[in-house]
Amino acid sequence: MPSLYERDLKSLSRLSHLRFFPQAVIGGKGAYLTSDDGRRLLDFSASWGAASLGHSHPAVRDAVLRALSDQAGASHLSSANLPAVELAEKLLSIVPRRAAGRVWLGHSGSDANETVARVVVAATGRPRILAFKGAYHGGTTGSMAVSGHPVQQGVPKAQGLTLIPYPNPYRDGGDYTSADTALAELESLLAGPVPPNEVAALLLEPIQSDGGMVVPPENYFRRVEAICRQHGILIVSDEVKVGLGRSGRLHAFDHLGIEPDIVVFGKGLGGGLPVSAAVGPEAIMNHSPAFSFQTVHGNPVCAAAALAVLETIEREGLADRASEIGRHLMQELERLKQKHALIGDVRGRGLAIGVELVTDRASKSPARQETALAAYRAFELGLVLYYVGMSSNVLEFTPPLTLTKEEASAGVALLDQALTDVASGKIDRTALADFAGW
Ligand code: PMP
Repeated sequence: MPSLYERDLKSLSRLSHLRFFPQAVIGGKGAYLTSDDGRRLLDFSASWGAASLGHSHPAVRDAVLRALSDQAGASHLSSANLPAVELAEKLLSIVPRRAAGRVWLGHSGSDANETVARVVVAATGRPRILAFKGAYHGGTTGSMAVSGHPVQQGVPKAQGLTLIPYPNPYRDGGDYTSADTALAELESLLAGPVPPNEVAALLLEPIQSDGGMVVPPENYFRRVEAICRQHGILIVSDEVKVGLGRSGRLHAFDHLGIEPDIVVFGKGLGGGLPVSAAVGPEAIMNHSPAFSFQTVHGNPVCAAAALAVLETIEREGLADRASEIGRHLMQELERLKQKHALIGDVRGRGLAIGVELVTDRASKSPARQETALAAYRAFELGLVLYYVGMSSNVLEFTPPLTLTKEEASAGVALLDQALTDVASGKIDRTALADFAGW
């Protein structure tokens, strides 16, 4: 009898695979998944942050059941429905005033960013967009066209796209620079080849997540905001991975001291269901010549789930909790750094944390293979976490916002063991052959 994982390989397309180890799950509750071989896996990824409240959260389940038991249609394209309207009203109440115009609802961070990239150009009549090297804004043609992640290098970019460096306090040089150098580059671009009155918007990640969980230097984005305001360039904050409480504040841009014009939500918004949102000024979001709809956008089931997620985050104070548990997790990881030479840097905000592995701390040379091995070994030991980064050497922590202190410590103990096993050369490297990661 083939295993669930083998059946997956024989039936599902690899186009949507991003696999690090042979994970096959049959259920889950809270921060734990149940593997098909009966193991309990502690989930430090929460399905890349999508399971923001953990698995099988009663608030999401109840909201979905209610919406499905007397279903107000399956779409808001040609009909209003209460969950979609309530979700939109709620989102308008939590974004900065300059963004509180209209809400566009979609299925994913990808379709939301694609829509925003299209509408800002159409509505302003300015053909150019600024985004960051290393940025991941999605996996559809239009969202990839405004992304700068190396994994998408072969994909055609938007004609008006200019990629600028994202400053990285840990690394200086190569694709990463200091805040001063990054700002100087931006200013020289705007003084020369990229006329600012042709730039519709700047797309930013408040923590560059798939690029390596890079926390930007203090004040950098304040200075970027000043430049954008001077030239009437819209600021778009992509909160898809680190927004809605994960950073320890409701919005990750709150840490940057800026107020974006457009805010994009996805992943954790649906608590496991597919729903995204772009929230921005009415003049932009109602610019109908840039229309963007898919049949089940704004369907009441996903909208009800998202509303339940937002209410739960608020009611249970999950942003504050992410801050508190995140602090504990970071302390424990800093302790591991004292012990494991492989760990070059521990960084993050709240429950959005990256641990960068290097072959040696002086050269900071990326420990790409050791990172893949550490994730693989952690899975064998019962901990699920994936890796990100321009050099695929940053372990990513985006656990459920409901993670307990004890679960945080238990996960770190498993990672400790995994890193010990990797350093001792005990792990069979051939196991990675079928798991390219990214
Ligand atoms: N924006 C950011 C910041 C992301 O991290 C991602 C996914 N990693 C996306 C957008 C795309 O989201 P999705 O894959 O759900 O479409």
